[in-house]
Amino acid sequence: MAHNHVVMRRCIGCKRVAPQTSLLRVVRTRTGQVLDGTGEHISGRSAYVCPAPGCVKAAGRRRMLERALSAAVSEEIWERLLAQAGTGTQVV
Ligand SMILES: [Zn+2]
Repeated sequence: MAHNHVVMRRCIGCKRVAPQTSLLRVVRTRTGQVLDGTGEHISGRSAYVCPAPGCVKAAGRRRMLERALSAAVSEEIWERLLAQAGTGTQVV
């Protein structure tokens, strides 16, 4: 148990803590680009959100993602997040 170290991150939509690998990741790089960093090793300031449409929408509605990253988030990134959140089974 103690050997099974799981990195936990907080979803900015629902504030629940979950294993980092189960969350979608958005990264702001040093050059200020905001990228979909899910499953990729991109260094920079990161924000995490559950792969659930409700969480992605909550993060957008309250501008939580922009605030977490201190950067503007493009439509393209939102579309990618929503696409990855899919139809989801979680109802928030
Ligand atoms: Zn969430």
